[in-house]
Amino acid sequence: MTETNQAPGTPCFHCGEPVPKSADYWIRIDSDAKPACCRGCEAVAQTIIDSGNADYYRLRTDLPKTPEAALRN
Ligand SMILES: [Zn+2]
Repeated sequence: MTETNQAPGTPCFHCGEPVPKSADYWIRIDSDAKPACCRGCEAVAQTIIDSGNADYYRLRTDLPKTPEAALRN
């Protein structure tokens, strides 16, 4: 993985909770990898994406930032 510079408190791609520094869970979407806070979020999100429902993440608007914006900080 190349995303080793995430800031503390990066929101989980699935639930939006801050991802602990020690967490090493990743959700693969398109050609990208997003941080997850725990194995449960990682598994649930990956299941959603792998079953063809990634639009859930692309289209939702109810988190404070887009996951992409969160990763750039
Ligand atoms: Zn989570």
